[in-house]
Amino acid sequence: MTYLRDALTDRVGEFIQLRRDIHRHPELAFQEHRTSDLVAAKLESWGYEVNRGLGRTGLVGTLKRGQGKRRLGLRADMDALPIQEASGVEWASTHKGLMHACGHDGHTAMLLAAAKVIAQEATFDGTLNLIFQPAEEGGGGAVRMMEDGLFTQHPCDAIFAMHNMPGVPQGHLVFREGASMASSDYATIRIHGTGGHGAMPHRAADPVVAASSIVMALQTVVSRNVDPLHTAVVTVGALQAGQANNVIPATATLELSVRALDPQVRRLLEQRIKALVTAQAESYGVRAEIEWRQGYCVLINGPAETDFARQVGLKLVGAERVTLQGPALTGSEDFAFMLEKVPGSYLLIGNGDEDATAGACMVHNPGYDFNDRNIAVGASYWVALVEEFLSP
Ligand SMILES: [Zn+2]
Ligand SMILES: [Zn+2]
Repeated sequence: MTYLRDALTDRVGEFIQLRRDIHRHPELAFQEHRTSDLVAAKLESWGYEVNRGLGRTGLVGTLKRGQGKRRLGLRADMDALPIQEASGVEWASTHKGLMHACGHDGHTAMLLAAAKVIAQEATFDGTLNLIFQPAEEGGGGAVRMMEDGLFTQHPCDAIFAMHNMPGVPQGHLVFREGASMASSDYATIRIHGTGGHGAMPHRAADPVVAASSIVMALQTVVSRNVDPLHTAVVTVGALQAGQANNVIPATATLELSVRALDPQVRRLLEQRIKALVTAQAESYGVRAEIEWRQGYCVLINGPAETDFARQVGLKLVGAERVTLQGPALTGSEDFAFMLEKVPGSYLLIGNGDEDATAGACMVHNPGYDFNDRNIAVGASYWVALVEEFLSP
């Protein structure tokens, strides 16, 4: 197997420029038209067959070599966030209120850098599908691509994806088998009471008191219902009611974010929250209306694929730069839906841990920037994984 890390390091200049160009032109979920055009043009120029319009702005570049039956999928996300950039970098966003604050510009550039090397130099036998996905940030682009026939048109035996991680040394690779990222569900709870004069509470049914009690009662779901050895998060991120000190409002609204690392715990949280909110409201003589919205599912990395991905990482960067079983995260990722259909693994690449300018600033922060030194490492990793998975 030819590992191209050193060779790539000298040749990634083009892709650092490309990453910065994408960074200057961030696009929100399903609006990644410029990025998608750019990716498609590059892939076509290197000989990939390009299939566009999967999940609106998503696309797949396919390259076949030899008679091999194995089929591999690598996925990068392309969307930006509605954040006003404050990184101060020369290549900062030129689109007001939008920025690549999660490094998806870097993920796209790493996979493109790999795509060029693979097309021009890699030895492999089989089918390679490079999946460029829209709308990872809450838009569910992965599901939309699958609804449009991603895996029926481009069947894969295994799929892999990589995300940068600030706070982890630059280029360090972190793997994890099993449940690795949380499910995320959302609830809007409207408490319907009876409004009235603040001086005569006995003539009203106060939704503020009921809502306050519900906030406190919800704390017992994690502390009293979930097995202490399991992970769960119930956050009340918004509580809105009333406007004046002498008026009891008629309604109150709560917004919840609910996360779990186990599908069973996820179901338990929904069941307990609904039961508790309904009973609490009733006990205060008000009525609760609960709107439950399912977000992303738990991301579960396959054991065999994760072990394969680890071995590629160990050979590429050495044991001192690999974490074999990293911690699970309570963030969410819609690659989880792809992993429900096709086995695979999702890994992290350290964005840097020294200071904010060296990649340590957290994703979704206005000061964040993708660490360009990772383009060589990430692209080399993809090339190595392709050569290993589709070895002749
Ligand atoms: Zn993000
Ligand atoms: Zn992200």
